[in-house]
Amino acid sequence: MRPLVADIDLAALCHNYRHACACAPQSRSVAIIKADAYGHGAIECAKALVGEAPAFGVACIEEALALRQAGIDTPIVLLEGIFSADELALVDEHGFWIAVHSAWQVEALLSFAPHRPIPVWLKVDSGMHRLGFAPEEIESLWARLSQAPQVGELVLMSHFASADASDSGYFEIQLQRIVALAHALKAPLSIANSPATLAWPVAHGDWNRPGIMLYGSDPLEVANASSRDLRPVMTLRSQVIALRDLAAGEPVGYAGRWRAPRPSRIAVVAAGYGDGYDRHAQDGTPVLVDGQRCTIAGKVSMDMLTVDVTDLPEVRIGSEVVLWGRAANGTVLSVDEVANGCDTISYTLLTGILPRVPRRYL
Ligand code: PLP
Repeated sequence: MRPLVADIDLAALCHNYRHACACAPQSRSVAIIKADAYGHGAIECAKALVGEAPAFGVACIEEALALRQAGIDTPIVLLEGIFSADELALVDEHGFWIAVHSAWQVEALLSFAPHRPIPVWLKVDSGMHRLGFAPEEIESLWARLSQAPQVGELVLMSHFASADASDSGYFEIQLQRIVALAHALKAPLSIANSPATLAWPVAHGDWNRPGIMLYGSDPLEVANASSRDLRPVMTLRSQVIALRDLAAGEPVGYAGRWRAPRPSRIAVVAAGYGDGYDRHAQDGTPVLVDGQRCTIAGKVSMDMLTVDVTDLPEVRIGSEVVLWGRAANGTVLSVDEVANGCDTISYTLLTGILPRVPRRYL
């Protein structure tokens, strides 16, 4: 069999979730498992966290229904709410919680007759300018929703545009807007994503919403003591499938982007953009071969990529290659470092691993 696999360390996931809870002992933490748990497998991740997480967060009802069909009966928040009024019947049947960010959603909800009140997270646009009501609209909406028989527990939510940045200016503007509203309304609050969970206790609310940190990626521009305690959950593991010895000056791969600066040995690895490994990986992007750091040499192809192993004479066909995660010798290559080499973020690398790559749960 082709030797590429994504190993998913569910104990590391639980460790990271507990870490999120320990960072914010006064808050309840919704485990964000949208986008198939950031590519890790939502059902398996949810099952690992059942009994610990008081709720899961997903992007849409299809993701929530898949969890229910797998037997998971923990509360699930639809973070973008409903996309059409017909979804309310399913929301009611399965006991989902919904975010409400637009006037049509409020009207649909208030014209619906659920069997039991639906918990609602009223979304404020505190500065992201993507989804949510303007702060000036919130007081009257809050009054209307809190009196409506259709509505169960009501929570005020917002999302930060830059809680990860070392410059906290805009984060603080958003925080002030939302905290002022929550105080005025005496509303339960949910604003903290992973960076705010790790670095901004002042933003911890009744409900936090950690996502990427659960998977072991450090969301902070500048790591802190807390973010350093995260453990990688996914290890993207492959093997060397061929070796090439090249004379100085010989090119490697499409367009010959990399040229051997000296007599060089190139390892060909079974992983490519057809697996979701980012084609934008530059020469110099780190890789672990037999647990030792090497770098990508040449453009990533559909089914393979090439690594400069000139300084590792012991590398053989079959040697272990870790594209990110933890090698057999314990060395860790963070997905964040790989993301830097691809000029992207860990979120896209993790969610981008394609179904061709089997997930193996440990
Ligand atoms: N809350 C909402 C509404 C989100 O859209 C997201 C992710 O995009 C999160 C929480 C989790 O964010 P993070 O993965 O940065 O922790």
